[in-house]
Amino acid sequence: MDQLPIFLNVNGKRTLIVGNGVSAARKADLLLRAGSDLTIVAPMLGEELSQLAETYSFKHQATELTAADLHGCLVVFACSSDDSVNQKLRGFAAAAGVLVNVSDKTEECDFIMPALVDRTPLLIAISSGGTSPLLVRMLKARFETTIPAAYGRLAEFAGSYRDRIKKLIPNMTRRRRFWEAMVSGPVAEHIYSSQIEQAESLMESQLQEAAVAGDQPPLGEVYLVGTGPGDPDLLTFRALRLMQQTDVVLYDRLIGEGILNLVRRDAKRIYVGKLKNDHTVSQEEIGRMLIDLAQQGKRVLRLKGGDPFVFGRGGEEIEALSENGIAFQVVPGVTAANGCAAYAGIPLTHRDHAQACVFVTGHEKDGELKLNWKSLIQPRQTVVLYMGLSSLGAITQGFLRNGADPATPAAVIENGTRHGQRVITGTLESLLDKASMAKVKSPALIIVGSVVSLRDKLSWFDNRPQG
Ligand code: SAH
Repeated sequence: MDQLPIFLNVNGKRTLIVGNGVSAARKADLLLRAGSDLTIVAPMLGEELSQLAETYSFKHQATELTAADLHGCLVVFACSSDDSVNQKLRGFAAAAGVLVNVSDKTEECDFIMPALVDRTPLLIAISSGGTSPLLVRMLKARFETTIPAAYGRLAEFAGSYRDRIKKLIPNMTRRRRFWEAMVSGPVAEHIYSSQIEQAESLMESQLQEAAVAGDQPPLGEVYLVGTGPGDPDLLTFRALRLMQQTDVVLYDRLIGEGILNLVRRDAKRIYVGKLKNDHTVSQEEIGRMLIDLAQQGKRVLRLKGGDPFVFGRGGEEIEALSENGIAFQVVPGVTAANGCAAYAGIPLTHRDHAQACVFVTGHEKDGELKLNWKSLIQPRQTVVLYMGLSSLGAITQGFLRNGADPATPAAVIENGTRHGQRVITGTLESLLDKASMAKVKSPALIIVGSVVSLRDKLSWFDNRPQG
C-alpha cells in the first residue's frame, strides 16, 4: 500500500483552507459537516463558500496567510488558484509539522482526499492513490447505486445498541452472530422501511433471548466449500457468502491467494496442504481439527480446490463429522475438468465427437497405474485424468498398449483457468514429449479424446490480448 487509509476525527479541532473556489468549498463542506473549527484564508469568499456560510459558521480571514495561522491546526488544505499561496502554506505546514493536502497535486500531499460514498454514519472512502480517477469514479457510481441510503440508518441503529449488546453477550463469537443475524434479518428490514418502533421491539425480544443463552459458545459448523480450479470469478455466490462469515479456514496448496483474499479478513488461516509424498497434515489430523474447532463453537471453512466431491476426499472428511454429530454443509465447485475444458476451448462432449465423458485419477498407487483400460478406450468418449502429470508416460503407454489409436488427440492443461494457463496439445503418441519439452508443472489435467481437436477453433482464454 502506498497510503494508510484512516478516518480523522476533526470535530472541534482547528483546520485551515487557503483558497475560495469550488475545490476549497468542497473541502470546507466536508470539514464543516464533520464539525471542524475551520478558517478560510482568502481575499474574499467565492459563490460556493458564501452559500456554505448560510448553513455553517466558520472564520473567514481576508488578510494574508502567516505561519501563526497554522497554530493548533490538525490538517490544512491548499486550494488557492495562486500556486505561490499554496506553496507558502506547504512551507509553513512543513515547518510546523502539520499535514497538508494540495489540490490536484498528489505528489505534494501528505494525505489525499478519497472519493466518498456517504451513508453517514457509514462512510465508504475510495482511492486509487491518484493513479486512476476514472476507475474511482466508476466504483463510486457502482456503490452509490447498490448501497441503499437506509444503510446509514441501519448503522446508526446498530451503534445505539453497541454497548448494551457488548455487556449482554460477552462471548465474542456469539456476539458476532447476533450482529450478523441483525443486519441481514427482519430487524434490518424494518429499518429499511423506516419502521423504527417495530425494529426496536424486535431487537428487544432478540436481546432477551440472547441474554438467556448467556456466555455459552454457540454451536459450531463446518462448511465444505469447493472453490473451483483457480479463477476466483468461478466461485459460487454461496461459497462467497460462507467464506465471509467464517471464524477459521483450513486450506491447501491448490487454493490461490486470489481466493484466500475473499475469506473474512479476521478468520484464522490454517494451512493443511499436502505435497506429493510429503503429507504435512494427515487426513485424520485434518478430520480431527475440523471436529475440534466445530466443537469449540467455530464456523469452520474447509476450502477445497475444484469440487469437494471430485477427487477431493470431501466425502471422507464429512463422514468423520457426521459420526461426531457436527453440523456441516457442502458447496459444490467447478471441478478442474469443467473449468480447464472451458478455458482451453475443449468441449467435454460434442455431438460429432463424444457422447460420454469419464473422470479418472491418474495417480499411481504403489508405483502402478490401476486403470480399467478397456472402459477408458471406448469410441466417442472423452477421458479426463486428474493427478496424472507425473505418470503421463505410463498413461499414454497404457492407452497405446491396450489398443487405442496413436493419433487420438490429447492435451495437458497446466494451471487451468488461471493467469499463466498453458495448454499443450498433441496425440497419444506425441503428448509425453511435447509436455516434457514444455516442462509442464502441476497442477495439470490430461484430456484424451477427439474433442481435443476442437481447440484449434474454440480456444479463447489464452488467446485474449493482455490488459
Ligand atoms: N477436487 C478437485 C481435484 C483435486 S485433485 C477438483 O474437483 O478439481 C488435484 C488435481 O486436480 C490436480 O492434480 C490436477 O490434475 C487437477 N487440477 C486442479 N486444479 C487444476 C488447475 N487449475 N489446472 C489443471 N489441473 C487442475
